[in-house]
Amino acid sequence: MTAPLVQAVGVVKKFGDTTVLHEVSMDVQPGQVVCLLGPSGAGKSTFLRCVNHLETVDAGQIWVDGEPIGYRVRNGKLHELREREVARQRRGIGMVFQRFNLFPHRTALQNVIEGPVQVNRRGYGEAREKAMALLDRVGLADKAGSFPGQLSGGQQQRVAIARALAMEPKLMLFDEPTSALDPELVGEVLDVMVGLAGDGMTMIVVTHEIGFARQVADDVVFMVDGAVVETGPPSQVIDDPRHRRTRQFLAKVL
Ligand code: ADP
Ligand code: MG
Repeated sequence: MTAPLVQAVGVVKKFGDTTVLHEVSMDVQPGQVVCLLGPSGAGKSTFLRCVNHLETVDAGQIWVDGEPIGYRVRNGKLHELREREVARQRRGIGMVFQRFNLFPHRTALQNVIEGPVQVNRRGYGEAREKAMALLDRVGLADKAGSFPGQLSGGQQQRVAIARALAMEPKLMLFDEPTSALDPELVGEVLDVMVGLAGDGMTMIVVTHEIGFARQVADDVVFMVDGAVVETGPPSQVIDDPRHRRTRQFLAKVL
């Protein structure tokens, strides 16, 4: 057994008096894809945001590649990290949102180059070459000079994926990456994600695309009301769910 790349242990998250994550635990092995399913309000986005420390947890801990997120271990104790160190941890985790969040006044290529040059202090030539290769990988080499407003939603989302990959993350988080897209544009984004999974990227994907989950997920985690209801391979959770809540949810989205 290898160590999990992501290990969430008893994660509790509250907003004020409301608990939105109730001791959520999950493991993601290196190279695995975990799809997070569940109705709106289940806590899926909040969980992803905890993984890359956009939210702090109230109890429990998330480990990524052996490091506790937001902390370091010294003499067997957890010590809170400074912002700089949190930023370092976060750089290893790529995130793609429902809304593409590209810089509108920069070309596709400039969007992809920005992080490596500004944050990772890569030389421009090297960053440019790599960005072109990434745009090619998402099928957009010919759109390098286009501005986001000149691209379709599916193309913008593929640029957003290339931009996240440019930081060489060890983990990719996707939060409903195709939910804002017109139906005919969903496939091109899912195809890129299928390719990434095939290349061995470790991914946590919040999605309602059951076909994608069935095809690509090693594990499916089904959440309701801030708690994990069931976890298992798609052949179990999607095709032979044990829990009534899972069956009800699937009946709605399938
Ligand atoms: P999902 O992504 O599964 O739809 P979310 O993680 O967005 O669910 O939300 C889970 C719950 O947490 C919801 O009840 C939501 O209203 C609440 N919530 C999310 N973010 C905040 C916030 N910043 N402040 C207060 N409540 C929040
Ligand atoms: Mg959400």
